[in-house]
Amino acid sequence: MKLFVLFFSLLLFVSPSVAQTNVQEICGYKTELDRVLKRQPNYLILQNALFEQAMQEFKSLSNAKRRIEADTLYFEIPVVFHVLYNKTAENLNDTSILSQLRELNNAFRKRNKDTTRIRAIFKPIAADVKIQFVLANKDPQGNASSGITRTYTNKTTFAANQFGTYTTNMKYSANGGKDAWDPTSYLNIWICNMEFPNYVGIVYGFATPPTNAPNWNGTGATKDTNSMESGVVLHYKIVGRNNPLAPVKYVEGKAAIHEVGHYLGLRHVWGDGTNTTGCSVDDGIFDTPNCKAQNATCTGQNSCTDASNDKPDQTENYMDYALDGCAGMFTQQQAFMMRFVLDKLRTGLPYRIVKYDTIPEPAAPLDGFKLYPNPLKEGQNFNVKIPGQNNEYYATSIIDACGKEVFQRNLLANKIHSIETAGLAQAIYFIVVRNAEGKIVFRQKLLIL
Ligand SMILES: [Zn+2]
Repeated sequence: MKLFVLFFSLLLFVSPSVAQTNVQEICGYKTELDRVLKRQPNYLILQNALFEQAMQEFKSLSNAKRRIEADTLYFEIPVVFHVLYNKTAENLNDTSILSQLRELNNAFRKRNKDTTRIRAIFKPIAADVKIQFVLANKDPQGNASSGITRTYTNKTTFAANQFGTYTTNMKYSANGGKDAWDPTSYLNIWICNMEFPNYVGIVYGFATPPTNAPNWNGTGATKDTNSMESGVVLHYKIVGRNNPLAPVKYVEGKAAIHEVGHYLGLRHVWGDGTNTTGCSVDDGIFDTPNCKAQNATCTGQNSCTDASNDKPDQTENYMDYALDGCAGMFTQQQAFMMRFVLDKLRTGLPYRIVKYDTIPEPAAPLDGFKLYPNPLKEGQNFNVKIPGQNNEYYATSIIDACGKEVFQRNLLANKIHSIETAGLAQAIYFIVVRNAEGKIVFRQKLLIL
């Protein structure tokens, strides 16, 4: 367990950390914090208080309840992607955007194949965060929507200079961007060009940390007035898996996962210290080992000795910089923190799903879905075959009449899977199948007699 110590200084946020660490600043978190601090000088004190409150609540739970797996509450967040393009290549196609949504869902539901990268010491704390993302099917006026907007812009870039600073013009229609959809009801993700000609530094993405807790917004001159900027911005070349435009290191769509982590309140695992202050600053999360600075590769080094239970740097974590090629997990406490933020701060955003049986039948259920036998006898296995693309996984759950998920497994399409029901009592259950975008594609009653 690490001490909860945060010695942020304003100087830290404006100093060029690139020079200090020789790691490219690929995420605009420090810049965004600096912007918040200018409006709310006491922001970090309040943010720290929130972290402490969350961790106190975490500690008050029994060991069993600390596991997110035991929580039947799922969150579903409606997302709108705003594509801004000046050149054709920047007008990213739907396939890339859907693949990004899939990567987000795989990461937040621990369905990512990259979980095989997680070292044995960290496997027990890798969390299914139980947050899912769906494309918004209605715009703020209530009109049907695909959840993707496309806007031509006369801006050739939203970078401010070649050193990795940027404007927020992408968030304003009047400035060549696109106004947010009500940020209290949607997660807005802007996709645009963040590259400056002959750039030496580039921020591939940034997210606004939550600022809308009660009493967080200050008063008068310090009142937080940027609520319409709330959301995530991504450089168009790193969106989705295998984006042909992506630099080699950024082909897995991990930057978006990292940024949504910030949006839901997480800090970098190294606590944004420097090589000098590194081991004395922390991210406020106890189950991410202390580390000195960001890791750009999966070295597995141990840069700081923890006071107890010393572990190496968790380069597998989505909130480090190693990302593509290394990352594959959020921890249990990071999951708790993000869910805490959704519950306490971004309260208008998610649909809370407790009982799956209150979810309506999918509009277009999968054709050719096979589930047999049904009804079945207590203790008997059943078989399931999910039609779909080869090598695609579908999250398959069995939900009991109280809405509790009693079984969850990711099943490959077009194969017959035999599912054990040992331990399930005689009752009515629901089997629910979700595609990679988190949409329910099949739902059926399952009767155990
Ligand atoms: Zn970051």
